[in-house]
Amino acid sequence: MSEVRTKPTSVVTGGAGFLGSHLSDRLLSEGHRVVAIDNLITGNIANIEHLAGNEDFKFIHHNVTDFIYLPGKVDYVWHFASPASPIDYLELPIPTLKVGSLGTHNALGLAKEKGAAFILASTSECYGDPLVHPQTEDYWGNVNPIGPRGVYDEAKRFAEAITMAYHRFHKMNTHIVRIFNTYGPRMRLRDGRVVPAFIGQALTNQPLTIFGDGSQTRSFCYVSDLIDGIFRLMMSDYHEPVNIGNPREMTIKQFAEHIIEMTGTSAQIEFRPLPEDDPKVRQPNIGLAKKLLGWEPQVAFEDGIVRTVDYFRDRV
Ligand code: UDP
Repeated sequence: MSEVRTKPTSVVTGGAGFLGSHLSDRLLSEGHRVVAIDNLITGNIANIEHLAGNEDFKFIHHNVTDFIYLPGKVDYVWHFASPASPIDYLELPIPTLKVGSLGTHNALGLAKEKGAAFILASTSECYGDPLVHPQTEDYWGNVNPIGPRGVYDEAKRFAEAITMAYHRFHKMNTHIVRIFNTYGPRMRLRDGRVVPAFIGQALTNQPLTIFGDGSQTRSFCYVSDLIDGIFRLMMSDYHEPVNIGNPREMTIKQFAEHIIEMTGTSAQIEFRPLPEDDPKVRQPNIGLAKKLLGWEPQVAFEDGIVRTVDYFRDRV
């Protein structure tokens, strides 16, 4: 058997997205063959163009809401396809619901057919506007199912439910990662999320648009740390949801002030109305990930944000 055939094969749905492309890089560096599937509605081919010509990497332009047929063996399915920023899922409510439900069903079906391990990219949005702080995996959440964010939150909650059903009923090797706010190179400048929004505004001397009074909190994880936690979880034998994120919490106002200071921008802060159902606090409890996976973040916010600003400097 040739060396190529003995490599594990990973399928990454959403493989041209922010997280999917970083995951693909990590898997290739681990010696996997990678098949990235993306319909490019929020993903971007530029995120994977450095992989063109790599014989272990293949890109398929496909919407995973439609049946996924792939010939050959598959060892791992990483299901990352979904619009993921609040602006994206407000503009794409039905594709968001469909990829979380039908797309997850198809991705699980592929993993089942191939006897592959499966991981679902779930989200801290499953906790909604949380009444437990920091959030632990055993908290069931406080989600408004019919609010504007419900399309994402409920799709991901359904995705978790069907993943656990396939695990319990079909005895599949499945995993669920609840991803907290993550940042780094390859985020879309205009995806509406606070990290690219503030950096883009600061670099062009436009006002930084704080929604509400800026007292809401988030906890930002650098992308390489997140991918490392996810890789470890896939390789584990744990099947219930695990939080992966950085517990360093800050208010959105503190985040804006940090960006203003580090970029030396002349931009001021401007306050805008708070979007409906915007969570007031968010911070992962990562005790489970530490215990199970020996994982915790390594990249300090101050370092990760410098790398991210450098990435955006050439792109504003
Ligand atoms: N936010 C903000 N200004 C912006 C974009 C976002 O103040 O231009 C706030 C948003 O209201 C939320 C936080 O920043 O409280 C994080 O928003 P993001 O869209 O990054 O993701 P979320 O954590 O809400 O899913």
